[in-house]
Amino acid sequence: MDYQSTRHRALTAAPSQAVLQGLAPDGGLYALPDWSAIAFDWRQALCPDVLQMAERILSALLPDYTGMAGLVRRAYDGKFETPDLTPLVPVADGYSLELFRGPTSAFKDVALSMLPQLMTAARKPEDDEILILTATSGDTGKAALEGFRDVEGIRILVFYPDEGVSSVQKAQMVTQEGRNVTVCAVKGNFDDAQNGVKAVFTQVRQRGLLKHSGVRLSSANSINIGRLAPQVVYYFKAYRDLWQQGAVELGEKVDFVVPTGNFGDILAGYIAKQLGLPVGTLVCASNANDVLTEFLHTGRYDRRRPFHKTSSPSMDILISSNLERLLFALSGGDDQMVSGLMDQLDRQGFYQVNDAIRRRLTDEFWAGSCNEAQTREMIGRLWNTYHYLADPHTAVAWHVAEGYRRKTRSTRPVVVLSTASAFKFPQAVLEAIGGGADGDEFAMMERLSALTGVPIPKNLASLRQKPVLHHDCIRPEDMLAYVQRKATT
Ligand SMILES: *Cc1c(COP(=O)(O)O)cnc(C)c1O
Repeated sequence: MDYQSTRHRALTAAPSQAVLQGLAPDGGLYALPDWSAIAFDWRQALCPDVLQMAERILSALLPDYTGMAGLVRRAYDGKFETPDLTPLVPVADGYSLELFRGPTSAFKDVALSMLPQLMTAARKPEDDEILILTATSGDTGKAALEGFRDVEGIRILVFYPDEGVSSVQKAQMVTQEGRNVTVCAVKGNFDDAQNGVKAVFTQVRQRGLLKHSGVRLSSANSINIGRLAPQVVYYFKAYRDLWQQGAVELGEKVDFVVPTGNFGDILAGYIAKQLGLPVGTLVCASNANDVLTEFLHTGRYDRRRPFHKTSSPSMDILISSNLERLLFALSGGDDQMVSGLMDQLDRQGFYQVNDAIRRRLTDEFWAGSCNEAQTREMIGRLWNTYHYLADPHTAVAWHVAEGYRRKTRSTRPVVVLSTASAFKFPQAVLEAIGGGADGDEFAMMERLSALTGVPIPKNLASLRQKPVLHHDCIRPEDMLAYVQRKATT
């Protein structure tokens, strides 16, 4: 089985090579036109041990790897708060699938613990060293640093906007240990850092800048198939838990509600369904940046709209990259159509899909959005009524889950994906549950813990004492020179 570029199907790559490359050479994403063509016994995957479950699913999605069991063990064993990695917790009349119990308290840990193992296994010892370049708005940077630290043959360099991350997120990054890690602030906002990184990739490729340096660049964001595949596992894990608890009969459908930004998380749910898992509706939850809600309602994707800064910043996205993989699948692999739409999005800022695709979208997905006041209200009600502490991203999903149930009268079990610890966003959460939100973020974390009796995750609690190891701060126009210097020393 080879992966195909969504923009030109003849550009194929074995799974391990797709992981190493990240993006296909024509700018498309590596994907399959029909995920259900993978031979897979979904019942067999519902095994008691979650690491074994991960091994089976990842082996099906990335079949040219050998020794997957060892890779999975090295990725996860002992690194999460609970041995089952992603606990399923009953809340109200639904369930919360907690994806934030990893080393940096964000759901990105699930995939970014596995990706370094997949990359090193794909790389031959004589290959060039890999330099991972990442621009981050907060969560991805730390999870990638933690995942790649001290991994043989790979170095990682993270750029964060000096005006764009919270003090907790900044402290998480500038205290990062490891002999292969570099962290650098960029003057400006996230777009400045992200555009800077894109420009570095382009310059290095076009001018052959790192030739003969023994180093090649790669990326750790969710365009990489090696980040998507590990996320398929927790949909199976949630279903297995429901089945074991007697909440569903084997084969009965379950709905999933997913707080969505780049469409990676929810696409993993679509892939789980194609592998046979009894998934009912996939509910796409957006914050005030509701470009995806509009798209799923109308078939028209239009990024020409105001950008809102919200309390759920990891979903503040106007261009949702992984949607491209869904369009490829729903059109049966129509690469010409996909590349046409992506080109139009790039040049004109919008596109409209045809009726056949629109119908398929409506069959598989439901969508809703949640504004800032509704997010606050939901955090407050989850705490006051159900004693469940939710972060703003998770609260967006709970709000949309309520709307979904009310409007469709679905009686299926509902699983809401919970993507971050409330302690990463202490100010928004304190304001919502009626605690005073003064002092710095560390003081707020402590107040939140005192008020709720919920312990601060260890990795966050220890931050304040850790020495700052990374001091660099540069202008966006100096990023290329910075990367060249780091790559060659
Ligand atoms: C990245 C992220 C999301 C969005 O996930 P996508 O795969 O980009 O849709 C939601 N919540 C949190 C906390 C995140 O870090």
